[in-house]
Amino acid sequence: MTVRYRSSDEFQAAREEAPKPHRPVLKAMLRGACNSCMQCGRGSVFNGFLAVSHACAECGEEFHHHRADDAPPYFTITIVGHIVIPALLLVEVLYRPALWIHMSVWPLLTVLLSLSLMRPIKGALIGLQWALYMHGFDPDADDDIPAIPEPSEKTS
Ligand SMILES: [Zn+2]
Repeated sequence: MTVRYRSSDEFQAAREEAPKPHRPVLKAMLRGACNSCMQCGRGSVFNGFLAVSHACAECGEEFHHHRADDAPPYFTITIVGHIVIPALLLVEVLYRPALWIHMSVWPLLTVLLSLSLMRPIKGALIGLQWALYMHGFDPDADDDIPAIPEPSEKTS
C-alpha cells in the first residue's frame, strides 16, 4: 500500500509519529564500555584514549552526536572515591601502616583506577545516549545544535 502525503509537513509529521526501532540500553552500554560499536558490535567507538570516532568504520553509525561532556569524569570521581576512601580508612583502622605507605599506595591506586575506568564509563554513556536516541542520535531531530538567536535591535 502506497501512502501519499499532501505536503512535506504531513510527511514529516507521519515520520515523527512512526516508532523508532527499540535499542536495548544495557547491551548498548556494555558495547560502548567495551569500545564496540553499539549498532554492529564490530567497529570501535574510540579512535584515541578518550577521542570518539566520527563514525563506525564497519557499519557507518555516527558517534559524533554524543554529548558525554563532563559526565565521564564525574562518574569516575564518584566511583573511585567510593573505593579508595573506604579502603584507606579500613587499612588505617586495621593495620595503622606508616604514613609513607599511605602516601605511596593511595595516590597510585587513585590514578590507576581513574585511568582504567574513564574510557569504559565514557563508552557506556555514549551507548546510553545512542540507545535512548538522545541528542543527534535521534534521526527525527531537526538539529542538535540550538540556533543562534538574532541579535536584538538596540532601542536606545
Ligand atoms: Zn558499527
